[in-house]
Amino acid sequence: MTRETRPGPGGRYDGGENGSGVYGGGAYGSGPDGGDRYDVVIVGGGPAGLSAALMLGRARRSVLVLDAGEPRNAPASHMHGFISRDGAVPGDLLAAGRREVAGYGVEVRTGRVRSAVRDGELFAVADDAGRTVRARRLLVTTGFTDELPDVPGLAQRWGRDVLHCPYCHGWEVRDEPIGVLATGPMSVHQALLFRQWTDRLTLLLHTGPRPTSEEYEQLAARGIAVVPGEVTGVEVADDRLAGVRLDTGELVPLRALTVAPRAVPSAATAAFLDSLGLAPTEHPSGMGSYLAAGPAGLTDVPGVWVAGNAADLTANVLGSAASGSAAAGAINGDLVAEDTRRAVRARKDPFSAASEARVCELVAGDRRHGL
Ligand SMILES: Cc1cc2nc3c(=O)[nH]c(=O)nc-3n(C[C@H](O)[C@H](O)[C@H](O)COP(=O)(O)OP(=O)(O)OC[C@H]3O[C@@H](n4cnc5c(N)ncnc54)[C@H](O)[C@@H]3O)c2cc1C
Repeated sequence: MTRETRPGPGGRYDGGENGSGVYGGGAYGSGPDGGDRYDVVIVGGGPAGLSAALMLGRARRSVLVLDAGEPRNAPASHMHGFISRDGAVPGDLLAAGRREVAGYGVEVRTGRVRSAVRDGELFAVADDAGRTVRARRLLVTTGFTDELPDVPGLAQRWGRDVLHCPYCHGWEVRDEPIGVLATGPMSVHQALLFRQWTDRLTLLLHTGPRPTSEEYEQLAARGIAVVPGEVTGVEVADDRLAGVRLDTGELVPLRALTVAPRAVPSAATAAFLDSLGLAPTEHPSGMGSYLAAGPAGLTDVPGVWVAGNAADLTANVLGSAASGSAAAGAINGDLVAEDTRRAVRARKDPFSAASEARVCELVAGDRRHGL
């Protein structure tokens, strides 16, 4: 029997305190404290979370996206490298995503998740407004926060002319004088990479390690200037980067400055991950920390998947969306397997609560009423 009589797509998980819960597209149920229940709660509504929500909504799963509303690329005015969306305003992409998922019954709420803990067969997910919802499966797509080098004036230019990713912004600053602020072991690599976009490149040694003699040779061969000394400030004129000031007082004129931020979860997100038993792993490159996961984002915590930048520090918008989509397929497959196990159990036990509910559904359908 199909469920064509149900109004609209989606629908909520019907609970099943004793393992009798059945099927996406099922009826609404309230937990002991009145909290809502869903097949899947997605924590984070960026490209990864919304792509997953689209797949799961279309799979007739009941889905709630809880989003704190601070996507990583918010400081940038435009987004590049996403085929068919190149140059889009980042917020427009997310607004379109929210509209699309709403069409499949997915709920998106603004809120910051502060904890998620196992509660029997479900997860209890609490947000900072004190509201708790329950979910059969969790997808974590919280991205990360960019910890920027501590240089006066630098944070104010982040995403404008203080940049990190040549594929996101390199074209926009091509042929301009660009500085690479060295703060870690990847700085020479970053300089050699940005050389693809300009031949007016300066590696500012700042607090980074001295290049090796082999690296010096590579930099010289590619015509990259190397400037010793610490950068003490960012100079701006007419709302554009004019250069950086060195501790000697010298100004190095620049139109863009590239940095290597450290990826870290925000303090609030770190507390949420901790409550769930998800421990970030330090990336060997020194780029920051991420949530290690297996194929399609399955973590070591049963029932919990991860996608997007939270799992892959280098993922761009397209890659993050793709990983959210892949995780959603895996989650739905896992729920299908569970639904099937439950259906077989119910079929073998004709007097179980689940069987009674199923018979009631078959006999009365939407015309049923009562308690
Ligand atoms: C300045 C800048 C420019 C960029 N430009 C480009 C570009 O041009 N092209 C490109 O492809 N990529 C670009 N990127 C990379 C891009 O931002 C990421 O690839 C992408 O945002 C990752 O998507 P995500 O869904 O994993 O995470 P995010 O987009 O960061 O979304 C995560 C969401 O989860 C929310 N969240 C976090 N913790 C919680 C919590 N506890 N509870 C509820 N919600 C929570 C956050 O508020 C956020 O809304 C840029 C990055 C930066 C920093």
